[in-house]
Amino acid sequence: MAGEAQPDCLFCKIVAGEIPATVVRETERTVAFRDINPQAPTHVLVIPKVHYPNAAALAAADPAVTAELLTEAGRVAEDEKIDGNGYRMIFNTGAGAGQTVFHAHVHVLGGAPLREGLV
Ligand code: 5GP
Ligand code: ZN
Repeated sequence: MAGEAQPDCLFCKIVAGEIPATVVRETERTVAFRDINPQAPTHVLVIPKVHYPNAAALAAADPAVTAELLTEAGRVAEDEKIDGNGYRMIFNTGAGAGQTVFHAHVHVLGGAPLREGLV
């Protein structure tokens, strides 16, 4: 059923504590942890505990947790002190856009000068 944990989903396993992760923030409905292959000095993923395949599906099904995801991403940026210089929130959506884990997540990237442009 929509939103239920998927047995083969990597991020559902992180939520369940079956795969270790360096958690930096957690709420009742979200978890933020460091990306295993960081692309910037700060690279944190914020995910909902419920499973949806991407951010758009999450937003359609659960606007409240989607808003919390963004709030938590902003708090990560504050905690990491990357908010002063600017940072990125990225939602890769679909394999053609580089999405490799099909559990909604936002990347929070910063701590170094970020390349200009969108692609
Ligand atoms: P996507 O490419 O789907 O937008 O982002 C998936 C991200 O998950 C990638 O940046 C990748 O490095 C990260 N990732 C993949 N496997 C793991 C893992 O086991 N632990 C953590 N912490 N991050 C992972
Ligand atoms: Zn999942």
